[in-house]
Amino acid sequence: MAKVSAMDIYKLLPKTNCKKCGEPSCMAFATKLQNKEIDIDKCPILNTPKFEENRKKLIEMISPPVKEVWFGNDKKKCVMGGDEVMYRFELAFFNPTPIGIDIADTLPDEEIKNRAKYIEDFTFERTGEKLKLDFIAIRNASNDAEKLKNAIKIVQENTEMPIAICSLNPNNIKEALDVVKSKPLIYAATEDNLDEMIKVLKEAKKNGKNFALVLSSNNVKTLKQMAAKCLANGIEDLVFDPHTYPENIADTIDNFVMIRRSAIERGDKYLGFPILGLPINAYYYVKNKENLIESFIPDKEKAAGIYEATIANVLMNRYADALIMHGTEIWELMPVLTLRQAIYTDPRKPQAVEPGLYPIGNPDENSPVIMTTNFSLTYYTVVGDFEKDNVTCWLLVLDTGGRAVDVSVAGGQYCGENAKKLIEETKIEEKVNHRILILPALAASTRGDIEDKTGWTCVVGTRDSSQVGEFLRKNWERILNEWKEKNNLNNKQ
Ligand code: SF4
Repeated sequence: MAKVSAMDIYKLLPKTNCKKCGEPSCMAFATKLQNKEIDIDKCPILNTPKFEENRKKLIEMISPPVKEVWFGNDKKKCVMGGDEVMYRFELAFFNPTPIGIDIADTLPDEEIKNRAKYIEDFTFERTGEKLKLDFIAIRNASNDAEKLKNAIKIVQENTEMPIAICSLNPNNIKEALDVVKSKPLIYAATEDNLDEMIKVLKEAKKNGKNFALVLSSNNVKTLKQMAAKCLANGIEDLVFDPHTYPENIADTIDNFVMIRRSAIERGDKYLGFPILGLPINAYYYVKNKENLIESFIPDKEKAAGIYEATIANVLMNRYADALIMHGTEIWELMPVLTLRQAIYTDPRKPQAVEPGLYPIGNPDENSPVIMTTNFSLTYYTVVGDFEKDNVTCWLLVLDTGGRAVDVSVAGGQYCGENAKKLIEETKIEEKVNHRILILPALAASTRGDIEDKTGWTCVVGTRDSSQVGEFLRKNWERILNEWKEKNNLNNKQ
């Protein structure tokens, strides 16, 4: 399908350049709308009767081929889908894959409560961003409606997490919908229970209930037929579960890719819905299998966690818009959340931090001055390494447009002119009584240029920021004294 251009959008805008949307012109608004950086409602003129038709056409035009479907509550929403391209470099992927953890309703109340709270509190920080889990999948393992309702109540009383209700029993879903307070994800309608599920959900809709429904089948044609039937019955927020086979992940990926390709490249509306992956199947596959890989990883729990994380990452790479997992160990979730962060950063925007001067520890006038770049991964790695190793220094962060050290050296941003500007802007010369600048080893070739332009003495440090602490402990006092002697400063103090 041809991608909508900014010009296509512009043609339907009022073209008054009135700036009421906060943009300097209608063309600027069109560009932002194309890039999903502004909401169509920001243009008040489009809301007038004269432009009603244009607004409708625009909404149709900018609606992504993969429908955006959400569940959750006002405080926390899990948004799935919304993608327009097969490959991230063509535009960007939107709506980071929500990751849910299961809780079986057969667990004792206290365990349900503790596991729910653990899932809600789980967090770790990477490159300045807090990475968290997104929802709780309550599994009706008991097949008992009362137990399911009890688990939902406990989770709702103790957390604000969005909920997925997992039961193939339409009657249990019906009862669960009576107690759930937010918009849940319902897992799942199958070929067998579809008619009954539609009946239950139509009734729930009449009573004002809102939900998103997962359709589950390993056959793409069947999923398509099920989607058509749901749409005909007014159930429009759909998600596909094309089955996750841990013993045959190639078939699983084939299904995922087939669905996404049909939606994006062929514009198949009945397949234009988000896809749910179930790495939890991989966990139980290993856990329940005899002699699987025990000679390699004797601890079955760990082996199950490793396989689950692997499958989660494979599926996320191939269009999974939501995942349900079982493992909660940090070593299992960290690679999954890290990959998600990497996939869903916008490739069109450099990941950068504010350039400037950052004191690390409590630096004084004798502390070293170290210069790095404002690529956020570099910055947070450097700061993390320095804090871990109790490094005290003044960290100068150069504006390289979000490029890493070696890339900005090659591209000419890590240079004398920019270093001079940074030194002047940060007034670092007022904070230290020396003029020594430590450069990363990867920037060694810029030493002459920086010395010429700034008048500072450059010292080439280490290749890796984790070695800086050791480097300073061994060398900094000597470097500082030699510099002061050379500049006759020791006697003047
Ligand atoms: S508010 Fe609408 S008409 Fe006015 S500049 Fe923005 S897009 Fe154009």
